Amino acid sequence: MDTLFYYPDPDLCNSSQVQLQGQEAKHAARVLRKKVGDTVFLANGLGCKATGEITSVSKQFVSISITDVEEKTSPKIKKVLGLGVIKKRDRFEFAIEKAVELGATTICLFDADHSERTRINKERVDAIVQSAFKQSGRWFLPEVITKESINDVLLHFADHVVVMAHEKKELSANDFRISNNALLLVGPEGGFSDSEVETVSNAGGRVVSLGPHRLRAETAVTAILSQFLFTA
Ligand code: SAH
Repeated sequence: MDTLFYYPDPDLCNSSQVQLQGQEAKHAARVLRKKVGDTVFLANGLGCKATGEITSVSKQFVSISITDVEEKTSPKIKKVLGLGVIKKRDRFEFAIEKAVELGATTICLFDADHSERTRINKERVDAIVQSAFKQSGRWFLPEVITKESINDVLLHFADHVVVMAHEKKELSANDFRISNNALLLVGPEGGFSDSEVETVSNAGGRVVSLGPHRLRAETAVTAILSQFLFTA
């Protein structure tokens, strides 16, 4: 697939000339060795994708003349992944990358009771999201927000249907569907605490199983989002 460049200009679809700078320009010029006359694809993460032709390349800038644009309206249903912070960095980053590929519209990272206190490197998380966004060809860049507890998450997404993946639940096949904005909760390595499960149940959330096996948190992220691949 063709490389997509991230160009976060809300006005992209109304532009005739744009200029890549910084990392994106470097990537285009030095890594991909793009040249004048080459076709490039841009996405602004806000529902606009554009096709353009390179008109000049320097070390810092790549100028592009836009030849075609396409716009999409934002998805009707929001799929928010609420993920308890996972301590193991590679697993945490894997979970975030897969969440973007699998269509999460927002990723809300929070300190769960059993999350070990690790500082979230927001810049790094944003870079992973951006790269997965481009790789998977999405139209809207998922938003990343951080919260300090599950209570804060529930408050923030108070108008969302809440679905919590929890392994202690007696087994039953999932029959859940979402037809409204949904908050999908996955716990950290140590799972959710009893009090978190209770908080979610009391708030009217559904506690659901993801099958008979104990999944790692990052697997649970892919499993739960995979149930809603065609919900948009
Ligand atoms: N509590 C476990 C591991 C938690 S797994 C322990 O330490 O022994 C991390 C998260 O993945 C859980 O909080 C839950 O959200 C999700 N998860 C893993 N396996 C699951 C299953 N079979 N059903 C539902 N959720 C699951």
